[in-house]
Amino acid sequence: MRWTPSGRGNVDDLRGQSAGGMGRVPMGIGGILVLLVLSWFTGIDFLSLIGNNPAPQTQSTGTSGEVASSPAEEQTVLFVNAVMEDTQQTWEKLLGSRYQRTRAGIFRDAVQSACGTADSAVGPFYCPGDRKVYLDLSFFNELQSRFGAPGDFAQAYVLAHEVGHHVQTITGIESQVRQRQAQGGDRNALSVRMELQADCYAGVWGYHANQGGRFQQGKIELDPDDLEEGLRAASAIGDDTIQKRSTGRVMPDKFTHGSSAQRVDWFKRGFTTGDPNACNTFQS
Ligand SMILES: [Zn+2]
Repeated sequence: MRWTPSGRGNVDDLRGQSAGGMGRVPMGIGGILVLLVLSWFTGIDFLSLIGNNPAPQTQSTGTSGEVASSPAEEQTVLFVNAVMEDTQQTWEKLLGSRYQRTRAGIFRDAVQSACGTADSAVGPFYCPGDRKVYLDLSFFNELQSRFGAPGDFAQAYVLAHEVGHHVQTITGIESQVRQRQAQGGDRNALSVRMELQADCYAGVWGYHANQGGRFQQGKIELDPDDLEEGLRAASAIGDDTIQKRSTGRVMPDKFTHGSSAQRVDWFKRGFTTGDPNACNTFQS
């Protein structure tokens, strides 16, 4: 992937947030409900993350509120910003004035969002409540070490997937799904369709980033091996692959994000067509 730094306009640096204090704030029932809803969407059990974790250490911040950060981390912040910029420019092109921008909240250890308190173990997520993407930078290392999916395009795919959830919120797909779930629809099956569509939307961005031409400042362009990186990541985070590794067996009715083959397939569909209309995972 080729990219150039384009500032930090799409990033909220939440690394200096006092996470230690946050952990002790009692959660109201509203918050719990939000977490339940969020768990349905992301397939992550947010409820299990409350209460049984030791309060994260508060990062020491200077009086100026500046965050201790390594040069490598700073580079990653610029990378996140560049991907957020390029994905959103793509959606502005595709949706026109319907598109409203989102931002990436970068946190360390734990974060407070409109969807409640989340810690790094949940991985990157999108919160429909405040329409923001959340990401602990350390996840990118995990993508490589734990999921065996290295490479900058693998990282970009994860961000583009979260921006895909933002698109679903803007277009009303997310609220329709939430409604169907509340009316007794199969929660997991609906979640899988949502997630696969976000994968397809990530592919749609990949298609547009891959539209050759001369490399422009602030614009992302792909290398020939980038598609392979994206497919490897999509495969690595498939439900069956993760289940097999953690429990030794595959339970399709517990899928929330789709199998590796499905995730690869939908990502590819977006990547080869560049057309969001090709991403109707709710058909059939
Ligand atoms: Zn997702």
